[in-house]
Amino acid sequence: MKNMLKKINVTIWNEFRHEKTNSAVKKLYPEGLHKAIADGISAEDLNIRLASLDEPEHGLTEDVVSSTDVLLWWGHCAHGEVKDEIVKRVHKRVLEGMGLIVLHSGHFSKIFKTLMGTSCSLKWREAGEKERLWNIEPSHPISQGIGEYFELPHTEMYGERFDIPQDGKIIFISWFEGGEVFRSGVALERGHGKLFYFSPGHETYSIYYDQNVLRVIGNAVRWANPLIYQAHTAPNAQPPEVIQGIPPAAQS
Ligand code: ZN
Repeated sequence: MKNMLKKINVTIWNEFRHEKTNSAVKKLYPEGLHKAIADGISAEDLNIRLASLDEPEHGLTEDVVSSTDVLLWWGHCAHGEVKDEIVKRVHKRVLEGMGLIVLHSGHFSKIFKTLMGTSCSLKWREAGEKERLWNIEPSHPISQGIGEYFELPHTEMYGERFDIPQDGKIIFISWFEGGEVFRSGVALERGHGKLFYFSPGHETYSIYYDQNVLRVIGNAVRWANPLIYQAHTAPNAQPPEVIQGIPPAAQS
């Protein structure tokens, strides 16, 4: 029987600058960390495209955005170079239903800050220390296949307080060797769109080759795949019931 499964259209967006300017990052992610993620989560049900900052319209043309079900976002040193019109386009599409997965330093991206409405600030330290990610929602689709916790031997510390709104569902809490803790996996909704922030992923560590990290990202893609797309309008409404004592012509 023919497989009628509709593939999920995934676009992995990467700033793609460190890989060109820093030889250590280039060695670790020769084709960009977006390519490493694409290879790592590759599966039959996913149709994956790559996009990056230096392409026309940052690779996020109207056509690309309107045909993306789930967008992944990695940015760091060039958040300010992302054009506001592109941020607006992505924002609108998220509110209509598109899923968005924001990775690591994407916490300071324009799109994440727009969607959160807060500063999204946090503490950080680059000491290559151990991180233990505790899976505190084992029944959530995003944490399937992950045990009680998993560890990354060398990571950048991201610590509390993380200035995001409190309406997200915390899936992972990280503990760092140096002592800090962090909400490292948070699932949120904005409009009809589902969002997942996932903090591991500093460009000088081999984090996007880690099987647990890739599993979480793959799970998040499937969770964030929209069930509906719906534009937001503000219609003047006819009542579904007759309002007693009001002439029909005045009932809207
Ligand atoms: Zn980093």
